Amino acid sequence: MQSLGGKVLTDQRVENVLIDDGRAVGVRVAGGVEYRANCGVISNIDAKRLFLHLMDKSDVDDADPNLRERLERRIVNNNETILKIDCALSEPLRFEQYDHQDDYLIGSVLIADSVKQVEIAHSEPSIGRIPDADPSMYVVMPTMLDPSMAPDGKHTLWIEFFAPYQIENAEGTGLYGTGWTDELKHKVADRVIDKLADYAPNLKNAIIARRVESPAELGARLGALKGNYYHIDMSLEQMVFFRPLPELANYKTPIEGLFLSGAGTHPGGSISGMPGRNCARAFLHTQRPIAQTWKDAQESLKSTVGSVFRIP
Ligand SMILES: Cc1cc2nc3c(=O)[nH]c(=O)nc-3n(C[C@H](O)[C@H](O)[C@H](O)COP(=O)(O)OP(=O)(O)OC[C@H]3O[C@@H](n4cnc5c(N)ncnc54)[C@H](O)[C@@H]3O)c2cc1C
Repeated sequence: MQSLGGKVLTDQRVENVLIDDGRAVGVRVAGGVEYRANCGVISNIDAKRLFLHLMDKSDVDDADPNLRERLERRIVNNNETILKIDCALSEPLRFEQYDHQDDYLIGSVLIADSVKQVEIAHSEPSIGRIPDADPSMYVVMPTMLDPSMAPDGKHTLWIEFFAPYQIENAEGTGLYGTGWTDELKHKVADRVIDKLADYAPNLKNAIIARRVESPAELGARLGALKGNYYHIDMSLEQMVFFRPLPELANYKTPIEGLFLSGAGTHPGGSISGMPGRNCARAFLHTQRPIAQTWKDAQESLKSTVGSVFRIP
């Protein structure tokens, strides 16, 4: 982007999208600085926050009188997020009773005794319960693939434990009213580490240091609503042309010059780059429709011919 003349600014929290006469004309960031848009504004956050938190009610209502109500009522966020544990290790994990091979540690490892346990891990958070009676988790040791990420012979490990953002019966307490406290997050982390140590008994002695991030802390760090790193749930009724809502599903919005991208648009969360690519094309179509249509047709033809004749 910079090589094409673009400029990237970080640590700039957008507080308002500026609308003038029904058109997005820029953004105002914390501290009051305004950035004016030449062609349009592209948002990479979830639709709820964009329209309900960063825009004046009247600007949204003028563009679509039903949108605010539909965003509130139709978009589902089932309360599942992550408690994250990062560890510095003196040696790699060894799954001694499981025919250990170092290759197991390239990529992510799901720790679960049964399918039922995985079901519990994903269903309890939606009712505010922490599934830590017998934890299931994802484990990644990035240094097995890239040893340069730690000092010689040492390793890093991160553990992803699915947990509720809002804990049941704890509303209004703890961090941001979620019920999460330092004491609780470490208690849960201890159980998770105990379970992983059942599979990799050398774990506890190998831990040099650990850092635990509660769902409330993770949500604040990512800037994601209720810690939802997919922006909105990846449930069937919110996928493809329903993501995030049918009227916002083609990367355009009812506000002229305002575009929506990111995990809350098709094809959804994960590091695919596809929402950004699709949104960029939708944006370019509004800027130079004929040139972009021609370019898309050429790419599509090239891809079809390539796949039929297996041209690399
Ligand atoms: C612990 C963890 C592990 C994961 N592992 C994987 C994995 O292995 N593979 C995979 O594919 N995916 C993984 N994911 C999911 C993946 O990271 C997300 O789906 C993806 O990052 C979404 O990308 P995005 O660009 O759409 O949104 P985000 O990454 O959420 O980017 C949105 C950006 O907007 C910023 N922002 C928010 N509000 C404002 C504001 N008001 N003003 C300015 N900026 C703002 C945020 O700080 C953030 O930088 C993981 C997520 C987590 C939390």
